[in-house]
Amino acid sequence: MAGILFIISAPSGSGKSTLVSQLLTLVERIDFSISYTTRPPRGSELDGREYHFTTREEFLRMVDAGEFLEWAEVFGNFYGTALSALDRAREEGRDLLLDIDVQGALQVMEKLPAAVSIFVLPPSPQVLEMRLRNRSQAEHMTVEAVIERRLAEARAELRHLASYRYALVNDILDKAATELRAIVFTERINSGDLRAALSDGASNSLTSSAAAVAATCRTNTPSKRLRAALATFEQT
Ligand code: ADP
Ligand code: 5GP
Repeated sequence: MAGILFIISAPSGSGKSTLVSQLLTLVERIDFSISYTTRPPRGSELDGREYHFTTREEFLRMVDAGEFLEWAEVFGNFYGTALSALDRAREEGRDLLLDIDVQGALQVMEKLPAAVSIFVLPPSPQVLEMRLRNRSQAEHMTVEAVIERRLAEARAELRHLASYRYALVNDILDKAATELRAIVFTERINSGDLRAALSDGASNSLTSSAAAVAATCRTNTPSKRLRAALATFEQT
């Protein structure tokens, strides 16, 4: 059976990487798609673990050879999802998680409408700014222009939120992680993949409570919490 393709996007600094690593420890039978990028490795990043780090020449060769499901330029660097990652997950019947930007997500939604798309947003622009500052201070590289650019970019990305199937507000990390897990679980149940759902400890009560939590994250019926977060971006 073919696995489910999950797409997760978020403005930089929303806490998407933090949430994805939590999800990968909570949920079995899901692979993280390792993207190709032309940006240099940061901190402790390793080639083949966080990304396949590559040159612009090699990246463009892959584009010309049609080796990408999607690709985009993000903050001056190229990023792309290789079709081989999708093929491998399909062969093994495993779910695949793509952590990609809005431009890439829109390409995948068009090509593969069954993909389950999830947008993570911060509770407000003030919180986003604080997280961006804290993270850049921790990495000893605070550049005002970079923070300003990421905040402006966040507003532009939020305009595409309605194209996603789900949206979750990352205010309290555990709550957002529970919602993300509930979405994965509910989509597995909906797709009839009981084996994957059972590996997460499915039971009737868990199934119905996960479905209720996932329903609160549907973008076609925005919750009060989602509307409140969106309003903070519209006010300023
Ligand atoms: P992204 O991958 O979206 O760019 P990160 O996962 O790197 O974001 O998170 C940005 C910063 O915010 C990090 O310093 C992280 O520890 C912090 N963070 C993430 N989620 C939360 C949260 N719910 N509450 C407080 N801080 C958070
Ligand atoms: P970072 O450089 O901080 O790891 O990632 C920057 C942005 O690039 C993030 O929004 C991340 O989701 C996005 N990104 C990572 N891999 C891919 C990819 O394969 N395709 C696209 N379109 N975006 C990606």
